[in-house]
Amino acid sequence: MTTITNHMPTAELQAIDSAHHMHPFTAGDELAAKGPRVITRAEGVWLNDSDGHRIIDAMAGLWCVNIGYGRTELADVAARQMRELPYYNTFFQTTHVPAIALAQKLAELAPGDLNHVFFAGSGSEANDTNIRMVRTYWAMKGKPTKSVIISRKNAYHGSSVGSGSLGGMAAMHAQGGMPIPDIHHINQPHWWAEGGDMTPEEFGLARARELEEAILELGEDRVAAFIAEPVQGAGGVIVPPDTYWPEIQRICDKYEILLIADEVICGFGRTGNWFGSQTLNIRPDIMTIAKGLSSGYQPIGGSIVSDEVADVIGQGEFNHGYTYSGHPVASAVALENLRILEEEDVVGHVQRVAAPYLKEKWECLTDHPMVGEARIVGMMGSIALTPNKETRAKFASEPGTVGYICRERCFANNLVMRHVGDRMIISPPLVIQPEEIDVIIDRARIALDEAFTKIKEDGLWVAAS
Ligand SMILES: *Cc1c(COP(=O)(O)O)cnc(C)c1O
Repeated sequence: MTTITNHMPTAELQAIDSAHHMHPFTAGDELAAKGPRVITRAEGVWLNDSDGHRIIDAMAGLWCVNIGYGRTELADVAARQMRELPYYNTFFQTTHVPAIALAQKLAELAPGDLNHVFFAGSGSEANDTNIRMVRTYWAMKGKPTKSVIISRKNAYHGSSVGSGSLGGMAAMHAQGGMPIPDIHHINQPHWWAEGGDMTPEEFGLARARELEEAILELGEDRVAAFIAEPVQGAGGVIVPPDTYWPEIQRICDKYEILLIADEVICGFGRTGNWFGSQTLNIRPDIMTIAKGLSSGYQPIGGSIVSDEVADVIGQGEFNHGYTYSGHPVASAVALENLRILEEEDVVGHVQRVAAPYLKEKWECLTDHPMVGEARIVGMMGSIALTPNKETRAKFASEPGTVGYICRERCFANNLVMRHVGDRMIISPPLVIQPEEIDVIIDRARIALDEAFTKIKEDGLWVAAS
């Protein structure tokens, strides 16, 4: 039996890693010089590394381990499913019980008439499905020119060529020939960074109306869909002003543009409801799901689709699918994850216990000299680091310099908190308890203090002019 154990010294593991393992979103040479942290096991909200540190994971892995680590029920379900039916596909007019059961459960959980699921192996794949599905939908309705998908700058929708094109990350578009044609990006509702002298409410409306302007400019006969995360995650946990989503919904309704809510992070309890669309009062035609769907225990994603879209797509052959669409082991594990979320009322725990407690503690961080604003929705939060709270100034240094220093100090204090530019973000497991939230906040404060000292020492406590 193959076993992967941690019997080697850390330095040796790191040397082999740098010799053979190419990391996502990483500068390889820089990492090789420094050596990655080797995570060996995890339980609840806690990670262990190969040096024996006990680290609190305020990011739930990559926003995905909603039920926390170490739930052996999921391991048992996976083992049982592997013995019974480790693999079969859902092409060519076949199906299997785990995919059937998971599709039914998702249709039950999803709001409105979102009753149909197209499975994928990840969020990126699901958004690739969405690109082809919305364009095929309009083609089947006799409107093949409606192929443009409107998205937003600084959105994250995945890292494949299609989903990376949908996303609005400039650094990603700069590599490898993205974006693909007929993707149009409007500005994001990021008031802190871009709101200027407007109130958040005015700014939210103005940014939403960019969707209408884009539709009018491109022509209604050209636009297929608008895609957005209810709350931008990887872009920096950008919580839109209250005026934003109602106006977006109005515009999508008025021009009959399909609305795709990318729920890969927001779904499965993250915002305090099953889906972010419920928290923000959105009526999507399609929802992208992944991450919390299986709490990251297995790679699985998908698109939950309205009756109308599924009816139209079903009228012909949709020439699309993945070998692992509805993979039986991944589906069975996802179903068990949903059972736990439901039976243990994890969403209720978020609403009544974890989110109110985290919000109170998180918002207190604004008393730190470097923290400008603290935003939080459910269990996803961000703080803006700034040299001047009054003017919402940016630092004079390259964006991300200060954020990186702060993340380094979090790391050194055994706290996983990420930085996006000069914003710090958290997205802890939903099952986190108040005393564990205290640990996150205590360590975050220490890290902020240490970073503040270093930033002043390094001459970085300077506002951009
Ligand atoms: C992570 C993410 C994706 C991509 O999912 P993968 O499983 O990494 O392909 C898509 N959309 C959003 C909002 C995400 O956060």
